[in-house]
Amino acid sequence: MPAAKSSNDDPMQADTARPLGQERRSSRAPSVLIVEDERAIAELIRYNLQKNGYHCQVVHDGDEALLAVEELVPDLVLLDWMLPEVSGIEICRRLRGRTATRNLPIIMVTARGEEQDLVRGLREGADDYLRKPFSVNELIARVDAALRRTRVSHQLHVLEVGDIVLDTEAVTVFRAGQRLHLAPTEFRLLQALMQSPGRVLSRDTLLSRVWGLESDVEARTVDVHVRRLRKVLNAGEQPDYIRTVRGVGYSIERD
Ligand code: CA
Repeated sequence: MPAAKSSNDDPMQADTARPLGQERRSSRAPSVLIVEDERAIAELIRYNLQKNGYHCQVVHDGDEALLAVEELVPDLVLLDWMLPEVSGIEICRRLRGRTATRNLPIIMVTARGEEQDLVRGLREGADDYLRKPFSVNELIARVDAALRRTRVSHQLHVLEVGDIVLDTEAVTVFRAGQRLHLAPTEFRLLQALMQSPGRVLSRDTLLSRVWGLESDVEARTVDVHVRRLRKVLNAGEQPDYIRTVRGVGYSIERD
């Protein structure tokens, strides 16, 4: 099996040629899950992506991939087509079937050159594909492009305050990369707060946004749900971003 590295790509060269990695390090490094059973190739990909400012996790089969994604949804998956047991295409289909990963960018990595295979991959929901053997420059360019595309659509439905990330479309909340399980009311409450970070929302405002205008819920109910929300949100002993403004309401802000 030829290595994924091709002729004119020197890892060191890719290193110095890209100032982009530096930019990235200043904010959160995008995370890439590499699903590849050939360890040498997995290692080569990991090496080059890390050198370019990505945070990488490597798994060697489909089951591990599904477990890893359950733990922590990465920003992108590089998915080998030919995997032992469950094929890459099947993993792709399963990821698309789950709410949390429905929009997760997936690049299929394949040694299969047939046009119909590639079409099938795209049809099953892959965003792009990379043909083995590929150059380091191509790898980085494809990953960058896929992330750029999703970042645009992402911004429309993803709210972030500090390390809390709420996706209104996937209906998921993550804190410091860990998935949190909120009841529907707590989810809507957090969403209302995160839509106006730093702004104090009165109990009445929250009541109408979270419970609806017609509800006859008492203002005190808001306090009860904020307490529940805090409990889940700060379970990992993280700082409490929710600020109580006595006699008025609540806001969410980082520190
Ligand atoms: Ca393989």
